[in-house]
Amino acid sequence: ILELKHIYKDYLQGKLVVPVLKDINLSVEAGEYIAIMGPSGSGKTTLMNIIGCLDVATKGSYLLAGEDVSKASDTHMAEIRNHSIGFVFQQFNLLPKLTAQDNVALPLLYGGVGKKERRARAKAALEKVGLGDRVDFRPNQMSGGQCQRVAIARAIVGMPKLLLADEPTGALDSKSGEQVMELFRQLNDEGMTIVMITHDADIAKQAKKTYHIFDGEIRENQKEGGAADE
Ligand code: ATP
Repeated sequence: ILELKHIYKDYLQGKLVVPVLKDINLSVEAGEYIAIMGPSGSGKTTLMNIIGCLDVATKGSYLLAGEDVSKASDTHMAEIRNHSIGFVFQQFNLLPKLTAQDNVALPLLYGGVGKKERRARAKAALEKVGLGDRVDFRPNQMSGGQCQRVAIARAIVGMPKLLLADEPTGALDSKSGEQVMELFRQLNDEGMTIVMITHDADIAKQAKKTYHIFDGEIRENQKEGGAADE
């Protein structure tokens, strides 16, 4: 569903050109669940921004669901972003004055979906994340874990092709983090493709495949205990 080929990203820092991603090659099949790890400053967020169509590579090609994003115009990139990708961040980024249901319905509002359908789909998404009894709660009436589950409901309400998560458990205690990971497993079992970025090895382990970025280069991690031939 996603293919990065020879992706490079440089940043201009003053007059200096700083290479951050160097020849990244990564392909993710539909239905896969991967985690990308790496130390601070290794380029994880930079890569996430490219995968999420929030930024463009300096060089290289990026195919998402068969479409060449690296050649898309800014407006088309925004369309791809809105229709094909659901985002989950460390900070939940919920609007404090809106109820859970209205927060979840927001992307549908921008997508031009009518009010009745918006409400029904938002409610169904909240039920899916186990918050069917919290539709009228505002963010400050919910725990961090519940807020993150609302954010996940918002990310999936538009039925994206890809769920992209940046440190989704970073702001949560371990029990709430575990619940979020359980939810990701469930969504993946139902067919959702998930790309998760984290610096936490225990969280990364929950994905089916893990990669490591180091100094702008990416490698797949080998499974613990070596490969067992079957
Ligand atoms: P962290 O885990 O701390 O968030 P990261 O792995 O996500 O780190 P990035 O945020 O991708 O790392 O940053 C990688 C490098 O690129 C850093 O050295 C950073 O200083 C540099 N960088 C990131 N964004 C910019 C920018 N807009 N302009 C210039 N340099 C940047």
